[in-house]
Amino acid sequence: TEPLQDDGVDKEHLLHSFVEAKEKVNAKFRDLKKYLEDCEKFLAEFRKADENERDIKKFSSKVSGYLAQVSRISEVLSRDQIKMAFFGRTSNGKSTTINAMLQDKILPTGLGHTTNCFLSVHGSDLPDPYILVPGSDDKRNVKSLDELADALSKEKLDPSSLVQVVWPKSRFKILSGDVVLVDSPGTDVSPDYDGWIDKHCLDADVFVLVANAESALTVTEKKFFHKVNQHLSKPNIFIVHNRWDASASEPDKMELVKNQHLSRSISFLVDELKCVDKGKAEDRVFFVSAKETLMTRMQKHQGMPQGGLWLIKMCILLKQHELLTSKIFILNQVTSIALPGCFSGGAIHDEGFFARQLEFENFEHKLEECISKSAIKTKFESHAVSGLKIAKKLKILMEQRVGSTSQQRSTQEKAKKEQENRLKFVKEQLEISTREIKCLIKEITSKVEGQVTEAMTE
Ligand code: GDP
Repeated sequence: TEPLQDDGVDKEHLLHSFVEAKEKVNAKFRDLKKYLEDCEKFLAEFRKADENERDIKKFSSKVSGYLAQVSRISEVLSRDQIKMAFFGRTSNGKSTTINAMLQDKILPTGLGHTTNCFLSVHGSDLPDPYILVPGSDDKRNVKSLDELADALSKEKLDPSSLVQVVWPKSRFKILSGDVVLVDSPGTDVSPDYDGWIDKHCLDADVFVLVANAESALTVTEKKFFHKVNQHLSKPNIFIVHNRWDASASEPDKMELVKNQHLSRSISFLVDELKCVDKGKAEDRVFFVSAKETLMTRMQKHQGMPQGGLWLIKMCILLKQHELLTSKIFILNQVTSIALPGCFSGGAIHDEGFFARQLEFENFEHKLEECISKSAIKTKFESHAVSGLKIAKKLKILMEQRVGSTSQQRSTQEKAKKEQENRLKFVKEQLEISTREIKCLIKEITSKVEGQVTEAMTE
């Protein structure tokens, strides 16, 4: 299947650094495992040759312990993925935001399709999409959004349960970067935040609070993030004020509302949660319209004039290099001329449409920038440190083994030499004794012969 996404400025590179780091750390653990297996075999040969060797038994059991530890870490590493979890009140647009990031309608959205349990979107190397529901290993094929919505509506699921939606990685570049997107029931659905966090959030790399720009952050949304903050130290939290397109109908109040949301959100992240420094907090708050972005991206894949695409890319680059601020209005005008008919109908030709598009791109860029750094650290650092410790202990162990073998060899050589010396001494003694006996015999013989001769002459 053709990949859908073609505008990843350097997004691909950001997400790829996680995949690259994962491949590297996995390769190192494979090498360590192979070395430990070789050591285990080598020590087993030794034991066969000398079953009574107590030292060998001790070494073997230590090596087997390290091997089990390394196998466990390798297993965890091969499953490690970047997890982005989306929270917020029902209907704020969590599923739409995820769909906009995937660039297609994958998760059901809107009335009648409220997400009433956790849904995770994963990538796989299999060619067809499927879902996994709790309590069953059956891979249920779902080819369309309607099939997924239908399958989900038939399940009576607890809000904290998880349905996994698996799509071929080749369809979505974000999934090929080993990213898992997790949609959640609204924070207003159930107060079981501790259960949710224990089950779904402890390994999350980033949390996105999808808020409704038409109202202030609610008590339940804030409460949920306070809980997250208690369970995890300094979680990466982003706030997107969604439905910002609605503000276009009241342009005179727009700036005022935006500043209010911005200062309250920054104060929530910096002063209440203390999870980000003040200087960096502005890069954690965004004003977007997930619905517009999704529609635009879907239309783009259905065929947009090249000039339009080029202009959007240019805007994104300018924005990312802080060159585009007040010029948005002019660019809006230019692009609306360059894209005749592309955005006709609906709300998407409103004032500020392109600013919201750029803001969504910017949100994704900052999100990926943040996770590509933090996920590598949180997912791999502790494993790399454990691997290094095992390698060091193994080195010491094998050096001890070599040491005790050479000590054994020198003791054996010493004993052999002593034996040889003793043998030599005994041999010399024997020779001396033989010589003395011979002399004695000779003496006795001559004495006897003398006596015999004497007796005969008498
Ligand atoms: P969720 O319950 O938080 O997952 O919300 P959904 O993604 O299902 O969205 C609820 C409704 O809000 C749907 O009808 C969406 O089309 C609509 N919606 C989502 N995002 C936006 C937006 O940015 N602007 C507008 N106007 N509507 C939106």
